[in-house]
Amino acid sequence: MTQSKHSLFADHAYLPEGWRRHVLLEWDADGNLTAVTPDTTTVPAGVPKAAGPVLPGMPNLHSHAFQRAMAGLTEYRAASGSGATDNFWSWRELMYRFAARITPEGLASVAQWLYIEMLKAGYTSVCEFHYVHHTPQGERYGYQAELAQRVVDAAAQSGIGMTMLPVLYQYSGFGAKPPREDQRRFINTPESLLDLLGTLRSARPESGALRYGLAPHSLRAVSADSLRTLLAGLDASAPIHIHIAEQTAEVDACVETEGARPVQWLLDRFDVDSRWCLVHATHVDASETLALAKSGAVAGLCLTTEANLGDGLFPAQEYLDARGRIGVGSDSHIGVDWRSELRLLEYGQRLTRRQRNVLACAEGAQSTRTTHVADRLFDASLEGGALATGRAVGALQAGRRADWLVLDADHSSIAEHAPNAWLSGVVFCEHGETPIRDVYTGGDKVVDNRRHRDEEGAYARYRVALAELLK
Ligand SMILES: [Zn+2]
Repeated sequence: MTQSKHSLFADHAYLPEGWRRHVLLEWDADGNLTAVTPDTTTVPAGVPKAAGPVLPGMPNLHSHAFQRAMAGLTEYRAASGSGATDNFWSWRELMYRFAARITPEGLASVAQWLYIEMLKAGYTSVCEFHYVHHTPQGERYGYQAELAQRVVDAAAQSGIGMTMLPVLYQYSGFGAKPPREDQRRFINTPESLLDLLGTLRSARPESGALRYGLAPHSLRAVSADSLRTLLAGLDASAPIHIHIAEQTAEVDACVETEGARPVQWLLDRFDVDSRWCLVHATHVDASETLALAKSGAVAGLCLTTEANLGDGLFPAQEYLDARGRIGVGSDSHIGVDWRSELRLLEYGQRLTRRQRNVLACAEGAQSTRTTHVADRLFDASLEGGALATGRAVGALQAGRRADWLVLDADHSSIAEHAPNAWLSGVVFCEHGETPIRDVYTGGDKVVDNRRHRDEEGAYARYRVALAELLK
């Protein structure tokens, strides 16, 4: 019967109000939840049972897919001579050399493998901040959306939900500095980028699993005028993502040329609200922190990448206390695991403040939702991450996407623990294999007992692509 095809029974599931018992999940043929019913006394015949506790899938709000192929290859001192240091900018030189070599086929293979890794880690949606648009010579491909479409198709093949954000990269620095030669694969005008988006959108129309938005790369790569033109060409509810203040050097350059810090500059000139995701809002002063929280925009935090690149620490406690929205992303993909992102978010605070449970909220503490760090950060990242995707995801609730994870209840991080300690175990314990056993997107089981349905073939293709890139 069709009911069993589109329903699942869970002994425990994490609903918007917290852990509930005996939950019946039902969804339609398009992959959207139609009913989520706790305290179900009689399970309808033929309905399968989840292998463990069910959590909503986590959105990954920031990804540059091709950078997955560089992970682990830049962890050495490249600069020589006394006093020379490696930093974000020296890493960027290496990244540009990699970007110069990627082919459409290579990108497809790298992206598909990356998205499989994301799904296995419990990311069920990804926002792809896609900026390599042109041939290695900097010319348009015959089919102008060639590279972006490869990424969209890789997402569809893997089963992850996608928000494709074609990136406007126009200048190499504040004051409309002309682009550098090694940025030639990225460069567009607002008009040419909107044209590319239109082409892609007609070839791959939006669906429950696919949404489009736009991403001005950073304030150093666009001007106020080009940003206005770009946003005027976007539909009124589509998501907008931007790298905002990752490096102190870009904050200094913004102050020097524009007379304001990046977050302040943006908030003063544009109607920044919950459609916006400000990625790497790392360097914000006290007034920017409060203003950003008040705007309703999502701060896109990519802790493992920010740590890897030596970016700095976002003032998470002040921002969360001001009810700011957050979400997490794996960005450069040095790690692909939302559990590490949440752990590092808290650990950065612990190490600098010499305190514990910094990002928990003691105020009005009636439940584990606020007193347990993991629960608070999980809830916040689900809500903010879902907003950043522009898709109906991030909760086990009728009308949302049928995306979830099934935990292994026998895993040593949660076995014998009460349900209110499960998220703490999942986020903070690092013991053995992942506690995430199965993963569903749009109601389809894409990961079964820690194996993705296309794992072997996709990994073989990834290795071919990587070998080619490293030749
Ligand atoms: Zn980025």
